Amino acid sequence: MSGLMQGKRAFVTGVANDRSIAWAIAQQFKAQGAELAFSYPGEAMGKRTVPLVKTMNPVAVLDLDVSSDEQIDAAVKEVGKVWDSVDVLVHAIGYAPREALDGRFTDVTTREAWRITMDVSAYSLIALARAFRPMMRPGSSIVTLSYYGAEKVVTNYNVMGVAKAALEASVRYLAEDMGREGIRVNAISAGPLKTLAAAGIKGMRTMLGENASKTPLRRNIEHDEVGKAALFLCSSLGSGVTGETLYVDAGQNIMGVVSMG
Ligand code: NAD
Repeated sequence: MSGLMQGKRAFVTGVANDRSIAWAIAQQFKAQGAELAFSYPGEAMGKRTVPLVKTMNPVAVLDLDVSSDEQIDAAVKEVGKVWDSVDVLVHAIGYAPREALDGRFTDVTTREAWRITMDVSAYSLIALARAFRPMMRPGSSIVTLSYYGAEKVVTNYNVMGVAKAALEASVRYLAEDMGREGIRVNAISAGPLKTLAAAGIKGMRTMLGENASKTPLRRNIEHDEVGKAALFLCSSLGSGVTGETLYVDAGQNIMGVVSMG
């Protein structure tokens, strides 16, 4: 099973460091022969991201804050200078103001926290899809990252859970819309992983510990398991799959009342 991504060009957002889910995805893509381009939001993030992603010999590493339409348009133009088409778009971006991820949902979900979280974590998928669509040929695909907090209440996940619900619904609408161009759009709902974004959620460490014993596999997932699922969705292996939210969570989502032996 080698060369699944041979000749494919993947634009990967969301690498902050080597714990990022986007990094695990990029590693799987690279191992299967993909050409890569990366983005990071702003100079401060770039200090860590750029040296790391350069180890993969990308064709481009771009400064792109997805809350700016101008920056999205500029990124598409830059990518267009090195590639005449894009086969895969990885959206691995999530952000909510820290104070919205700690405390009573009713109290901490301010209008501003809602706006920022929805914009960066959900709307940006639509903005990127629209901007990159002219470069995407039939057979290409988009993948984003979601979490179980989209469906069920997860303590302190708060407005991020609401944004993930919007993200998953957007995946379905985008899939229907872009299906006419032969473009597939899917989400991966990943189990909890220690990353920079996860560190912003109060109680994450405890949750990771408790979570492991409550999944059917009695463990947490590994980063590379999300990478491998993205490889499936974005290669020819997933050619019949679109509009899906694929769980990579050691089975956690199937559990109701938990009393594990
Ligand atoms: P991460 O911190 O490594 O990645 C989050 C990325 O979002 C960072 O690279 C950051 O630069 C980027 N980002 C934030 N604001 C941005 C903006 N305005 N413009 C462009 N990029 C921006 O953490 P991660 O856990 O790898 O997160 C990737 C995705 O996976 C997120 O959508 C997250 O919600 C989702 N996810 C994470 C987990 C988990 O447990 N870690 C579980 C399920 C889903």
